[in-house]
Amino acid sequence: MLPFIVHDARFNALVFGHALLEKLWTGCRWAEGPAYFPAGRYLVWSDIPNNRMMRFDETDGSVSVFRQPSQSSNGNTRDRQGRLVSCEHGARRVSRTEHDGSITVLADRFEGRRLNSPNDVIVKSDDSIWFSDPTYGIDSNYEGTAAESEIGASNVYRIDGRSGAISCVITDRVKPNGLAFSPDESILYVADTGTTHFPEMPSTISAYTMNADGMPVNPRLFATCPDGLFDGFRGDVHGNIWTSSGRSVFCFAPDDTHIGTIPVGEIVGNVCFGGIARNRLYICGQTSLYSLFLNTTG
Ligand code: MG
Repeated sequence: MLPFIVHDARFNALVFGHALLEKLWTGCRWAEGPAYFPAGRYLVWSDIPNNRMMRFDETDGSVSVFRQPSQSSNGNTRDRQGRLVSCEHGARRVSRTEHDGSITVLADRFEGRRLNSPNDVIVKSDDSIWFSDPTYGIDSNYEGTAAESEIGASNVYRIDGRSGAISCVITDRVKPNGLAFSPDESILYVADTGTTHFPEMPSTISAYTMNADGMPVNPRLFATCPDGLFDGFRGDVHGNIWTSSGRSVFCFAPDDTHIGTIPVGEIVGNVCFGGIARNRLYICGQTSLYSLFLNTTG
């Protein structure tokens, strides 16, 4: 049985009929935030309710605890200098793990008020860091520590790569979540999981145009999730979006067409590309880490 469903012939060029969806490890409560480190050939990801980060060693398949406590970290990414950048629900901050292992706080407040609970993070080619800040880490004691929102809104922020200054760049989402730029960085995709608080709202991904000042403007609806949530996602070199979608991974072509599905069987939180050739899609599915080799690269 194929590990995927083809909805559009374009998907056939991105997958291998003889590749398998591999279940690499299980034992998480809520797996999220995969980030791949090519220099060490390992993947780091978050197990949010267990307050730990895990590491998968690609060379021998072993898994160990990378950091515990992890401040209930959620989204992670690798910056352009190869450093780990993490969203931490517990500390309500975005941090960077330096080459010497020390941790630098990149953002924990905006205009004097504490952030809610940074959720997902990406780095742009100018070294700026973009993160979403919904309330999931302060809504309860399960994914962080329950608290009131000091900001009173869930926004997307940008940390300047040189000055470290923090600016608020998106205020029109209910619960902004996953983020990704198109390959030429002309489009910023933003998931909105506001349906967790407003069930009548669909879970969506919106596409913002990046204007000449580097600001995301004019959002248009890119995709609506038919069942469950779009949480985290990544783009490939062709501009296709590979997104969590309920218990599956959906692939959307740049023209918004849903071209393929990878059924996973657990609620998918996030994905990232890894492997020596960056053609291995790592999938965080609730309790487990999965992967599938693709005929495309991140
Ligand atoms: Mg998320």
